[in-house]
Amino acid sequence: MGKRFGLIGHPVAHSMSPQMHNDAFRACEIDADYEAIDVEAGDLEEVMEKIRIGVLDGVNVTIPHKVAIMSFIDEIDREAERIGAVNTIVRNNGKLVGYNTDGAGYMQSIEPYLPSNLHDINVLVIGAGGAARAVCASFLGAGVSSLVVANRTKEKADTLLNLISTKQDQTNAMTLSEAEKGLERFDIIVNTTSVGMSPYTEQKPISLTKLKDKAIVSDLIYNPLETAFLKEAAERGAITVNGVGMFVNQGALSFEYWTGIKPDRKRMTNIVLKTLGG
Ligand code: NAP
Repeated sequence: MGKRFGLIGHPVAHSMSPQMHNDAFRACEIDADYEAIDVEAGDLEEVMEKIRIGVLDGVNVTIPHKVAIMSFIDEIDREAERIGAVNTIVRNNGKLVGYNTDGAGYMQSIEPYLPSNLHDINVLVIGAGGAARAVCASFLGAGVSSLVVANRTKEKADTLLNLISTKQDQTNAMTLSEAEKGLERFDIIVNTTSVGMSPYTEQKPISLTKLKDKAIVSDLIYNPLETAFLKEAAERGAITVNGVGMFVNQGALSFEYWTGIKPDRKRMTNIVLKTLGG
């Protein structure tokens, strides 16, 4: 019988992960199937037991379970520990091991646009949810000069930085309007909120009036492919990066953890773009 993988979250019906992974399994000639599995918080332990006994062979984890799942697994990889969330679970010699591929997936997507030395680079991350944690931990790990987190609820930005930052003088929390006013100091601006996601495609998380010349602006959203935020950034001369690269790379890294095989990322990107009409 083939192997069984899946995405656990609530809700999960909208996810493009099944199409992307099932196509990659076929392309790599692996007898396996990947499905979206809607799981409520109270059922997490039962699903982990299914992986332990081999009914399932591994899963991705999405909203709202990335933190809660950590109590039900046996080992947590260092990167996932640093981010404080798990998005990939692998069974290894009967033990459940948790990884986080969001941070590495994000950095791989933005790397082609970054300067080789990040020591003078000032980053603004908008949003302080689960995705922001992975993005912030990765930028701090890459050695940027400073990192500011701006969030609608400023206290959550403070909490995030307390969790992941070791050098307090390098990081700061702000409100969204404070970030807008001081925008010219940032070289990289990342939207990690859901503001602008379909169907609310006219919305933007902050105004870009004071955007620095030649800034890099990225948005984790991939539906639509070009958010109103990215459109404005491009019109103001910024380099823009959408969320497709992160989505494909985090998925490809999970695939590698499960199978030991590197899938074809171009093919995965094409599947996602085709589904989104890009
Ligand atoms: P989350 O944990 O629920 O965090 C949501 C964040 O958005 C919070 O900071 C929240 O602020 C902010 N927010 C929500 N509505 C807002 C509004 N109307 N105005 C201002 N701020 C608002 O979600 P997440 O897991 O971090 O995901 C966030 C986004 O990233 C989603 O669009 C998701 O699709 C995307 N994402 C993409 C990838 C990828 O592979 N490309 C991977 C992961 C996530 P408060 O704290 O004030 O509530």
